[in-house]
Amino acid sequence: MSLADKVSEGKMLLFKCSQCNHPAMLILKKKELGTNPDNSVKYEITMQCPRCRNKDGFTLNDGKIDVASKSEKTDKVPNLDRVL
Ligand SMILES: [Zn+2]
Repeated sequence: MSLADKVSEGKMLLFKCSQCNHPAMLILKKKELGTNPDNSVKYEITMQCPRCRNKDGFTLNDGKIDVASKSEKTDKVPNLDRVL
């Protein structure tokens, strides 16, 4: 199972909110961006804090399968093993 299968809309990711430090973000949207050279699908992931409604996002399968980009509002890469 690839990480992209685990990261789906409605799940929580243990990633600290950049605004209020809440420890988890809700995965709001998973949008296909295209196909990588290794044939994995690249996704834009939008997350929202359930406490302060701050939104953040990152790219999943960023150029290569199972690689995540840094989030838009922090310089941290989400740990995709921490999806609940
Ligand atoms: Zn927050």
